[in-house]
Amino acid sequence: MAKIPQSTIDEVLARADIESVVGRYVTFTKRTGQNLFGLCPFHSEKTPSFSVSISKNIYKCFGCQKCGNAIGFIMDIEKMSFPEAVKYLGDQYGVPVEWEEDGKDNSSELKKRKKRVEAILTEAAGFYYKALNSDAGKAAREYAAKRQLSQKTLVKFGIGYAPDGFTNLYQYLKKKGYDDSELKDSGLFTVAKNGNLIDLFRGRLIIPIFDFLGKIVAFGGRNLGPELPKYVNSPDSLVYEKGKHLYGLNYAKSTKTKQLIIVEGYMDAIAMHQAGVDNAVAALGTAFTDNQLRLASKCGADEIVFFFDSDKAGQAAALRASKMMLSYLRRMSGIKIRIRIAAVPNGKDPDEYIKNDGVEAFKAVVKSAKDVNDYLFSRAYDDNYDVERGLDQTKFQEDIVTYGSWLFDPIKREKMAAQAAQYLGARAETIIAAMEHVEDDDLESKRTQDKREQEKADSEQIKQRIENAANAPKADVVTRDEMELLVRAVRLGPLLADESKIDRTDVIRKNDFTGHNIREVVTYFLESFDAQRGVSEAVLVNKLSEVMFNGIKAEVFFFKMSDSMPVEPTKDAEVDMYKKTLYLVRAKKCTQEMIKLRELIRNTDDEAKKQELMAKSEKLDKYYQKLQQKSDAL
Ligand SMILES: [Zn+2]
Repeated sequence: MAKIPQSTIDEVLARADIESVVGRYVTFTKRTGQNLFGLCPFHSEKTPSFSVSISKNIYKCFGCQKCGNAIGFIMDIEKMSFPEAVKYLGDQYGVPVEWEEDGKDNSSELKKRKKRVEAILTEAAGFYYKALNSDAGKAAREYAAKRQLSQKTLVKFGIGYAPDGFTNLYQYLKKKGYDDSELKDSGLFTVAKNGNLIDLFRGRLIIPIFDFLGKIVAFGGRNLGPELPKYVNSPDSLVYEKGKHLYGLNYAKSTKTKQLIIVEGYMDAIAMHQAGVDNAVAALGTAFTDNQLRLASKCGADEIVFFFDSDKAGQAAALRASKMMLSYLRRMSGIKIRIRIAAVPNGKDPDEYIKNDGVEAFKAVVKSAKDVNDYLFSRAYDDNYDVERGLDQTKFQEDIVTYGSWLFDPIKREKMAAQAAQYLGARAETIIAAMEHVEDDDLESKRTQDKREQEKADSEQIKQRIENAANAPKADVVTRDEMELLVRAVRLGPLLADESKIDRTDVIRKNDFTGHNIREVVTYFLESFDAQRGVSEAVLVNKLSEVMFNGIKAEVFFFKMSDSMPVEPTKDAEVDMYKKTLYLVRAKKCTQEMIKLRELIRNTDDEAKKQELMAKSEKLDKYYQKLQQKSDAL
C-alpha cells in the first residue's frame, strides 16, 4: 500500500482550501459568517443544505450528513481512493506528492497484477501492429484503405490486426513469459471448454483503447467482412471499466477549443481526427455515463456537442443522456457545461458525412447543433406530430411537462413552457407548475434512491471490513459500537466537558476501547480537546488518516459511520444517544470480562484465588447492573 507522509497530507490540506476545492463543483448561493451554502452535490435537493466551513476547513451536508475535509470531498465526488485524492489535490495546488511503498498491504498485490496487465496490453498492441504490416495483414490493410484510413492515422491510433487462428497472441505472450492467470486478467482471452485460453480477437482490425493519459486499457476489434458481430470489445478488467473512458480524449484534451464533440463509435472519432476535427471523442457504447461527463469536465471542456444515431436506439439514447446530464449538472452546480445535440442530415453517420461532404460542411452541422432545451422541445413536437392527424396534444403535453421538469434553469424552463403554451392553448404558468410538480416527485424518488445506494455502500463497506478484519493485525480492531461512540463524542463538541449534562465518569476513556489504533485516536482526541470548541472533525481527520481500522483507512471508516448516523434533533437528544452508546460499549466489555472470569474460576483449584475471582466477578456484575439502570433511565 502506498503511504503518503503525514507532512505532505498536512500541506495538501493547508493549501487546498475547502472553499476553492468544493467551489469547482458547487455554486455557493449564501454566506453567513464563516459558512457558505449551496446545493448538495451528493443528494437531490431544491434548497441548499450543503455547507462549507471556511474556518474549520471542512464541508458538511445537513441533508445527507456527508462531511469531511478537502481530501474526503475529492474521494467522494471523483470516486478516488485516498492516495489518489491526495495526489490529485497535490497536483492542483502545487504540493509534490510522493508515495512510500511499504509493501505490507495486500493492495500491492493488486497493483502488481495491474502492472502485469498493462505490460500485456502494450505487448499485444505491438503484436497487432506488426501483424497489420505483415503478409497476414493484407486483407486488413485493404479494409483500412477502403475505410480511407491514412497511414498517418493508422500510426497515430496504433491500429493493428489480429490474425486468424486461435492462439497466435497466446503463443506470442507465453513466449514473453506471461502465465495463464496473468493472461486471463488482461481480458484478451476467453476460456475454451477444455480450459485452454484462446485469443478473443481473431481476424479483426484492432483499435487500441487509450485512457485520457494515453495508456492502453482495452481493445476494440472490427470485422473485415459482413459476418457478425461487427465489433468485439475487451470486457471489463483490472484496468478497464466500460463507461469510464472517452475514446480519443488523450488527443482531444490538448486541443485549443474547450468544445468536445461526442460520437458513438471509435471509427467515427478516428475519421474525424483524420479530417482535422481533433476535438472528437467516442463514448464507446450507446449509453453516455456521468463518469464520462465528469471526465470531460475534468479535462476542461465547457461545451459538449453530441451526435447520436438517427435510428430509434440512437434517439432513445439521446433522451437518456440528456436526462442524465441535466440531473448531474443540477447537482454539480459549480460545473458549467453547455450541452448541445447535433444531427447529421439525412440520417447518415458522422463518419460517412465527413467523408462525402467534407470537413467544412461537418463544422456547419456542429455549429447548428441545438441547445439541449431546444432539442427536447423539438423532440416533443416531432415525436407527436403526424402529417395527417396533426399534433397529438395529450402526448405532446406529457412530453413537454416531463422534459421541462429536467430543466433546472428557470429561464430555459420558462422559455420551453411559453413555446408549448401556443400549441396547448394553456398559460405558460400552468405548464411551469405542472413541470415543477413532476420535478418534486422526481426529486423525492431520487432521494429514496440516493439513500438506498448509500445504505448499499455502507453494507458493502461493512462486509469488506469483516473480510479485512480476518487478516488485519489486532491493533486495527474496532467494533461498530466503538466507532459509533467515538463519532457521538466528537459530535458533542464542548458539551462533552459540560458537567451539568455529562458526569465526569461518563466521558470516554482510552480503556473503553480495545484496539491499539482506536485507543491512539481517542487519546489524541482527549488531548486536543478544547473546552470552547471541542475537537473539529478536520483536526481529528488528520490523526485518523495516520491509522487503519479493520484494514481500512480510519478516516474513511469514521466518515462512513458518521454518514450513516442521523444527527439527533436536539442537543439533549445527542447527549442521551451518546450516553446510551457509551453504556452499551461498557456493558459489552463488561460481559466479555465476566466470561473470561468465569472461565478462570472454572479452571482454578486454588480456593483463595477462586474467592478473589468470585469477588471480582460480583463487582463486575454490579457494575453491569448499574450500567443497565443508567441506560434504562435515559
Ligand atoms: Zn447532501
